[in-house]
Amino acid sequence: MPELPELTVLSQQMNQELIGHKVKGTEIFQPKNFNITIEEFMEKIMNRRILSVKERGKWLFLELDGAQFLLIHLGMGGDLLHFSPGDTLPEKYKFKLHFMNGSGFTINFWWFGYIHLIDKKQLNTHKLTYALGLSPLDEAFTLEYFKQILNGRKSRVKSFLLNQKRVAGIGNVYVQDILFRAQLHPNRKMNTLTVQEVESLYFSMKKTLLKSIEKGGLIDERDFYGNKGRFSEEDFLVAYKTGKHCPLCATPIEKIKTGNTSSYICPACQK
Ligand SMILES: [Zn+2]
Repeated sequence: MPELPELTVLSQQMNQELIGHKVKGTEIFQPKNFNITIEEFMEKIMNRRILSVKERGKWLFLELDGAQFLLIHLGMGGDLLHFSPGDTLPEKYKFKLHFMNGSGFTINFWWFGYIHLIDKKQLNTHKLTYALGLSPLDEAFTLEYFKQILNGRKSRVKSFLLNQKRVAGIGNVYVQDILFRAQLHPNRKMNTLTVQEVESLYFSMKKTLLKSIEKGGLIDERDFYGNKGRFSEEDFLVAYKTGKHCPLCATPIEKIKTGNTSSYICPACQK
């Protein structure tokens, strides 16, 4: 499932390709992906121009002129692919949007996803996104802000990080190394963290996510041009490394059950 690094890479590339382009048409094969009827969607998006693209957690927000927003969530994953005029399109796709100049993009969801078109004034009430927290790489996500949102929270540190209303964009892939870097057991309660541990966790989030963005995201996800990321298994510190040695102390890494997710930890470093 794509997380913040993959979505950041996508939104950067989409910003380069899509800004200023005017929608000429769409093809839709799965009405269930939409929040409004296909007819309504097609009519509303026609002739709209793309103003900006921004990732918010696991969502992409495309701002359109006419005070509209196109919100995309790739669900468990999907190929969101750019095409230039004359390019061969992918064999399978669920959605296509093309511009006046013949370029555009297609989306093929691996399982299920969302394509919602809303008015700007609906941003505060759109059920799936209105409550999203800030992403750890947002400018406003300062150490002070982080301390504020965790103040008094008794939840376990891993559930806290995965809760998109608190911190948006982290999933069960990157959370593993985030916790390892901060030397925290996934089950630690937020209100037991020392000031130092909170700071360490804050910087660990940024570092872990940025390292993947530098490499174009995960190796099993594709970017806007269909290229795979370069962040591979060897780049992880403990994630998916059951039985391998901890990079700090050489203790074998363990896979444990934490709630309904699996965690990879060094039992010596993350007590
Ligand atoms: Zn260790």
